[in-house]
Formats: sequence, C-alpha cells, structure tokens
Amino acid sequence: MSRYGRFSFWLEHSGDDLSPRDPLHGAINADVAILGAGFSGLWTAYYLSQRDPSLKIVIVEAEIAGFGASGRNGGWCVAGFPYPLDKLIDNYGVDTARAVYEQMYRSVDEVGRVSGEEGIQSNYVKPGTYEIARGEHRIPDLHETMDLYEKIGLGENYRLLDAAELSEDIQINRAVGALWKRHGASVQPAALARGLARAVERHGVTIYEQSPVRDYQGAPNPGLVTDHGEVRANVVVLAGEAYLSRLEKLKRQIIPITSHMVVTEPITEHIWEQIGWNERGVITGHDSRGGYLNKTIDGRIAFGAYRSVYPFNSHITDDLDRQEDIFQHARESCYDWFPVLRLHGIKFTHAWGGVLGVPRDRMPVMSYDPASGIATARGYTGQGVATANLAGRTLADLITNQRSQLSELPMARHQSPDWELEPLRWMGATFVRKSLQRVEKQAEKQGRYPDKPTLAQRIWGD
Ligand SMILES: Cc1cc2nc3c(=O)[nH]c(=O)nc-3n(C[C@H](O)[C@H](O)[C@H](O)COP(=O)(O)OP(=O)(O)OC[C@H]3O[C@@H](n4cnc5c(N)ncnc54)[C@H](O)[C@@H]3O)c2cc1C
Repeated sequence: MSRYGRFSFWLEHSGDDLSPRDPLHGAINADVAILGAGFSGLWTAYYLSQRDPSLKIVIVEAEIAGFGASGRNGGWCVAGFPYPLDKLIDNYGVDTARAVYEQMYRSVDEVGRVSGEEGIQSNYVKPGTYEIARGEHRIPDLHETMDLYEKIGLGENYRLLDAAELSEDIQINRAVGALWKRHGASVQPAALARGLARAVERHGVTIYEQSPVRDYQGAPNPGLVTDHGEVRANVVVLAGEAYLSRLEKLKRQIIPITSHMVVTEPITEHIWEQIGWNERGVITGHDSRGGYLNKTIDGRIAFGAYRSVYPFNSHITDDLDRQEDIFQHARESCYDWFPVLRLHGIKFTHAWGGVLGVPRDRMPVMSYDPASGIATARGYTGQGVATANLAGRTLADLITNQRSQLSELPMARHQSPDWELEPLRWMGATFVRKSLQRVEKQAEKQGRYPDKPTLAQRIWGD
C-alpha cells in the first residue's frame, strides 16, 4: 500500500494498492485535457469517451486518482443539490428547479448503473436517505423542505416520518422525526473513484499522476502546464474543485473548506440488533452534534462532523486534514447518536479530513466556453458525489456540442462572483461558521429557531 492509504479509511480499504501511475513528461497533444482525477474529471472523461470513442482524452492529476475529496467523503451519493432549493425556485423558477432535481435523481442512478456495467466494486446500494430531527425545533424545517419538494411536483419521492415510524427502521437518541428521501445511495467513495479511473483507461483515456498543473491557458493555444510537461488540446477541463484555489487565475472563484470524518471498528451483530439500520441508507441530522453518517459494508459507522475550517488565504496543507478537536467532537457526537456504542466500548479506528470547494454564491458551475476552449466543473459545497456525475454528463454534452436538457440548465451558463480579498474572506467565512453553530445551540435550548433568520443564516441561505 502506498502512502496514499493514510488519507482516508476509504482509500486504505479501496482494494487497490494506490501505486501512482506515470507522471507527465514532455509535450503532448490531445483533444481534451482534464485537470484532476476526482469524480468531476473522471465522469467527464467517462461520458466523453462514451460519446466519441475516437477522442484523445488525457487526465493530469497532481497526486493519484481519488486523492481529493472523492476518495475521502462520506459516501453519500444523494440527490441533494448544493444550491438551496428555495433559492433555486426563486431565481430560476419551478420548472428549472424540477429539471435540476430530476437530473440529480438520474445522477444517483447513473453511479449505480455505471458501477454495475463497469464492474466497479463501489458497494453501491440505494435504500434512500434519512434526514433526522433530533429535537422538536428541527421539525418545522423538515416540513418546509417537504413543502418545497411538493412545490416542484416531486413530493412523491419524499416521506415525513414520526418518531415511531423512524424507530421501526433505526434507533437514534433524541430522534423525534425524519424526512425520508428515495434518491439516496451509499457508496465506498474511494473504491468508486479508483474503479472509475480504471474504467476510463479501458475506454482509452490516459491518466498521468503526480503531475501538479501549475498553469493553464485558453485559446489560441489551450493547454495544461506542469513542471515537467504540458498538454496542448482543443478543450481544457478544470476539474480540481477546492484545489483550484491554488491556481492564481482562479484563486477567488472558489474557497477550500474542510470536512472531517471518523469511523468505528466493526460493530458486532448484537449491537446492530439494538440500533437497527438494517439497510445501508445514509443518515444526517443538523443539530449541534449533527453529522452525515454511513454504514460501511463491514458493519462500521462512518461519522462526518458538521464542523469545518477555512484556512487563511485558502492555503491547503495536509495538516489541515488533522483537526483533533473536530475528530473528538465527531467521536462524541457519534456516541451521542448511538449511546449503545459507548456502553459497549466501541472504538474509533480512523480519522481523516479533506477539502471541499465553496463558490461565493453556492451555485455550482458546469460550463464550457467554446471561444476559449475552457470548461470547468466545480463548487459543490460538500454535495459533490452525485453532483459531479451531473457535471460530467453536462460537460460531455456541452463539449460535443449536443443540445440537451443538461446544456440548458442554469449551471451550464453560470459564473460565480469572486470571493472577497483577505482578510475579509477569512473573517466572513469564520463569522458565518461560528454564528451558525451558536444559532443551533440556542435553538436546541429554546426549542425553536429565531423568528427572523440571523445575518449568518441569510448569508449561508439555509
Ligand atoms: C470529508 C468530506 C466528506 C464529504 N462527504 C460528502 C458526501 O458524503 N456526499 C457528497 O455528495 N459530497 C461529499 N463531500 C464532497 C465531495 O466529496 C466532493 O464534492 C467531490 O468529491 C468533488 O469531486 P471533484 O472531482 O470535483 O474534486 P476532488 O475529489 O477534490 O478532486 C480534484 C482532483 O484534482 C486534483 N487537482 C487539483 N488541483 C490540481 C492541479 N493543479 N493539478 C493537477 N491535479 C489537481 C486533486 O489532486 C484531486 O485529485 C465531502 C467532502 C469531504 C472533504
């Protein structure tokens, strides 16, 4: 196992030895040159190779395929779109919002379909998602969310559950209700990324690894430039998510925010009988000990904390992945959700973190400008597992000039505003993060949220 195994439980258990592919050396030509071998880059390569097998497609990756958020996330392959649904309706209308959500449903299914067809051992199952209310103050939020799904005509895919109905499926401390969402799957994310990389290679795509791109150019001579080589191509695809902030030209287009996870040792059958959760549906809850949870195929709980760090000046380092206070918060939170784990002394075996990309307005971009030859897919604000599939399908349509429902969605034309200059960026991001935590704690104490949304809630849009 190469050193990359230590970046997440999923990478370590991906069934792959993670040895790097050859780096890029010298000058080469291609039809499409893609920066980044995460889900965005890999799905774009996959659908382009399906669309036109004669295309010469090259991926240039700084580390290894799946090194970024794609190999470290919660394994939540769900239809939640990163941009808040009420804003999607207000700014783009009900029909567009419905079209976006239908395409998100399709993306969740595509991940399963391609995993099956390509023999990718991604442990994909789709029993749905539960959004749990742990405290009465969370119930109105679930109802409001349900109303929005009804408003776009997709209500039949969602179901409100009371505490008794929920407890038939799963026993969660302090749970008073839930919203069940049909289009939710669980995956082993690193196995998906690694398997997808092998699949695109079988379809003729070349992946260069350990080759950080230092700069890119658009027309008249589009290309990606590394320390030891360059690719000139008709189309350049920028698919580096949070890490794109390292490129001078994109520094203010996206910021890196961390997310962190812990995972338990395998839990015995006797304890699982007390918890329930027989199917591997993914679970979330947004209280002050909230998290995003997954059940692994070998019977562990992976718990992702809703705590994050924005590094000053978007400076990404490996140290950022190791935040012991957040790991401890995640472990305590997991015990708080399932006290039986503490009772039986269940231990946590792994802890890791990664960075996800946040655009200033939270609207993802999946666009291609034929004049410059530059395409990009980015800005999923922590909801990129299924959304990156949508991005890949959208870019394939745009790059091959195929008009479709995807090429008409707002993300295909969208441009995010720039983030503020430092130190304002850091101050703003830190203020919003801390204020939202405070609001949640107060709401838990008082049993309800403030009547009027706070400034931080208005900025974040939840
Ligand atoms: C801890 C954590 C938990 C998460 N949980 C979930 C979840 O459960 N569900 C969900 O939907 N989303 C989740 N997310 C977000 C999700 O993982 C991402 O949105 C998604 O994986 C983004 O895929 P990507 O390919 O765009 O970016 P990445 O996976 O980050 O891939 C970008 C790739 O580009 C490479 N790269 C970047 N810059 C360069 C360069 N200059 N030169 C060459 N290569 C470069 C990187 O090395 C990397 O491999 C989570 C994220 C984190 C960090």
